[in-house]
Amino acid sequence: MKGFNWNSEFVDREKEKLFFDENGQQINRRMQYVCCITGIAYLLAAIADYYELGAGTGFYTMLGGRLVMASFAVITFFLFIIQSCNIRLRKIFLCLLMSSTILCEALEVCVKSYNFTSAGAPIALFIILTFYLFLPPWVYPSLIAGCGGGLAFICAVLFATESGLDASIVITLCFMLANAFGIYFLYSFNVTKRSDFFAHLELKRKADFDDLTQVFCRRKIMELGQRYFSLAKRYETPFSTLILDIDHFKEINDSFGHQTGDRVLRDVAGIFRNEVREGDLVGRIGGEEFVVFLPNTNAVQAAVVADRICRSVESYQYPEPEIGVRVTISIGSAELIDLSDLHTLLKNADSALYKAKDNGRNQVCWYGA
Ligand code: GH3
Ligand code: MG
Ligand code: MG
Repeated sequence: MKGFNWNSEFVDREKEKLFFDENGQQINRRMQYVCCITGIAYLLAAIADYYELGAGTGFYTMLGGRLVMASFAVITFFLFIIQSCNIRLRKIFLCLLMSSTILCEALEVCVKSYNFTSAGAPIALFIILTFYLFLPPWVYPSLIAGCGGGLAFICAVLFATESGLDASIVITLCFMLANAFGIYFLYSFNVTKRSDFFAHLELKRKADFDDLTQVFCRRKIMELGQRYFSLAKRYETPFSTLILDIDHFKEINDSFGHQTGDRVLRDVAGIFRNEVREGDLVGRIGGEEFVVFLPNTNAVQAAVVADRICRSVESYQYPEPEIGVRVTISIGSAELIDLSDLHTLLKNADSALYKAKDNGRNQVCWYGA
């Protein structure tokens, strides 16, 4: 499938990392459960071995196999607990854990060859299916364990039991079907999960950003503004806001058309984004009206930022200079001092904006100055 490799991962490493950053915890928890359940189940099965085989070589051989498998379960369990663990190491140990379970089954066929009935095959078949159905986030570990371990099991049936060729052929066919179904199922599941994750991210991004200007939309900027306002109040840090409005924008639309107007809006929003620091927030709150929230910024510092934005917009050149579009903006600025809510801060910035408009536009005014 396009964009995915055969291991059901994104070809794009950045995307794969993002997927794991968001879903890693859930995946790790599932893998930890799998390690616990398989490790404990295989160790408990040693009790049945003891009753069947007695304290002889056969029992100790089986116990050895089960202890190796349980060790892989313990190591893999911890690898999925350690947050910063290397992904390749996790894949290798997951593969070793799965392989050791089916190899334990093959060992059991050899040890209990005197008593092999086809009953052992459905169990091995079930184990192969679980490699895929417990939904590891990659295909290769299950594929290697399912095919490699299945082959070892078939060899054990072929060479260590009297069931011989006929049983081996039937078991081979069943294993092939189980692996084919498993690969298809796991690959589709992982690819769908990753695709859904990015579709959801894209949807969220679309909902949070204004389509035309690519700054935050009104709902999102207000939500973020409220959060930053509360933090500034709680930690008593400075916090300022700017309201920016394009001057005589209607005339730009009327003289040059809406398409030119849209282009100006997009470019001016780009200037706002470029002129603020990382961590400052820019959003569109109306047609040609924007808001900038400036955390850790007092009125004097905000005035410097606002002035820089104003000058930058003034020197903006429309991509087709012959059209002769000139753009200026007016800015109202206000600082959070003794205010109880964001609404009042915005109202203050808005009245400063009116003052800037009244004073002749293309300038910054701050509330209370
Ligand atoms: P002022 O200097 O007083 O702010 O005057 P103004 O013309 O900028 O303000 P006014 O509110 O009269 O007009 C705003 C215009 O912005 C009117 C509207 O058609 C236009 N507008 C709003 N949203 C968009 C948009 O998404 N694209 C375009 N091209 N124009 C828009
Ligand atoms: Mg305007
Ligand atoms: Mg306006």
